[in-house]
Order: sequence, then C-alpha cells, then structure tokens
Amino acid sequence: MKKLVVANWKMNPAALDRARAIAASSRKSAGALKKTTLVLCPPFVYLSELSKMKAKNFYLGAQDVFWQEEGSYTGEISPLMLKNLGVKYVIVGHSERRRHLKETDEMVNKKVKAVLRVGLKVILCVGEEKRDSGTEFLKFIKSEIGGALKGIPRKLLKNLIMAYEPIWAIGKKGEDADTPEDAVEMALYTRKCLVPFVGKEAAGKTPVLYGGSVDPKNAAGFLETGISGLLVGHESLAPGHFSEILKIADEVK
Ligand code: PEP
Repeated sequence: MKKLVVANWKMNPAALDRARAIAASSRKSAGALKKTTLVLCPPFVYLSELSKMKAKNFYLGAQDVFWQEEGSYTGEISPLMLKNLGVKYVIVGHSERRRHLKETDEMVNKKVKAVLRVGLKVILCVGEEKRDSGTEFLKFIKSEIGGALKGIPRKLLKNLIMAYEPIWAIGKKGEDADTPEDAVEMALYTRKCLVPFVGKEAAGKTPVLYGGSVDPKNAAGFLETGISGLLVGHESLAPGHFSEILKIADEVK
C-alpha cells in the first residue's frame, strides 16, 4: 500500500499568494513520488483556487466539515460542497477543534458519518492529552474511537483513515515527538479498537497515520516501523522541509 502524507496547514497562511506558492512546491514534489500519496489540507478559503492544481499523487483535503448537506447553518461547510469542489479527504476530530471549538465525540460522529455518506475519505484524529504510566490513555483512545464510529455502517468504513496524534506531541520540536516504537504500538492499538466496528481483517488494513511534530529528521523513524503515513502540521508550511519529508516517505521500504 502507498504511504500517505497529509499536510495540515491549519489556519495558515494569511494570503492566497503564499498559499499558491506553498501548494505549488508541494505539488511539484508530489509529481516525483512513486510510493507515496500527498493530501494537502489548506484552509477552506483556498480550496477552490488550489483545486485547479492537478498532479499525480496529489489530492486536496479539508480540515473540517459540517454534518448537514445544505440548509440554515451559518458559517458551515457541507461534505457535498467539498465533494463538488474536488476535495477527496476530510480531517475530522482534530484535537485543536475538540479543544478550541469544544467538538464532542457526538459531533465528531455526525461529521464522520456525513463525510462517508457522500463518498469522501475521512481522516479521523484521535490522541491523548497525557500519556500516563497506567492504562488511562489507552481507555481514552478507545472511547474516542468508539464515540466517533458509533452506529456507522461497516461498508462506509472502507473509506476510513485513522490518525494517531498525541496532543502532547503536537506543535513541538522534532525531538519532542513520540518515539517511533511507541507510535507504532499505538497504531496497532488503534487498529485493535477498530475491530468491533469494521471486523478484524478490515481493521488490519485500515491506514493509521502518525501526527505530532514530524520533521525531516524524525520522519524516516516513524515510517520504517510500518506506520501507514504521516500527518504533518507546521513543517508542511516550510516547502523545503516538506519536500524532504515527502522524499523520505517515498524512499522508506
Ligand atoms: C497536527 O496538528 O495535525 C500536527 C501534526 O501538527 P504538528 O506537525 O505541527 O505537530
């Protein structure tokens, strides 16, 4: 299976010119990839413009979505709108939305359902705030997954991608990221938590990405463990670094 690298630009950059320049650099790097797919997730306001950029191994994703298709929901963006723009992936349940916008598991569940119903792929983020020495953080991940996937028909979940993003590792320096050993263990645990929702075989095939302060120095370590790919935040806005990450992803066996 191809590695997946997802660029989460968050609320950056402030102007379209810069967005175009960063996207053009990422697209160029994507064109040279053989075993890696790039999903670029810019802010909503740039999706329309960036959807004009076509390239091999290059897809657009959104950072969020609402759960209704149309109607009186001021300020919201529907899965159908994203689909009609050519978006293929949607990040749902990012910890920054859970924290700053008070998104609950119930809201995440509605969003996951709505995205899958229109045939888009979901990148569902889970991750603990702290890693305790006991099993509390494992219970937390299990409950986030359970809450997000509750009541979703199995056949829709073939378009599910998981992203394990420990909150304590997000937005830091590369050396503060999770270790590859722990991250791959968490990826396996994430798959285990999926079994009741998708079955054992499908759980084993569901991609699980690692996200949290990935940079060109630590990217290979995560990918060498067999993790399915990376969710990259701030380093995806630094074109030189991000191109290196993509190249590394493509070179890892
Ligand atoms: C993220 O927030 O999804 C993320 C991975 O951020 P960063 O790479 O900046 O830690």
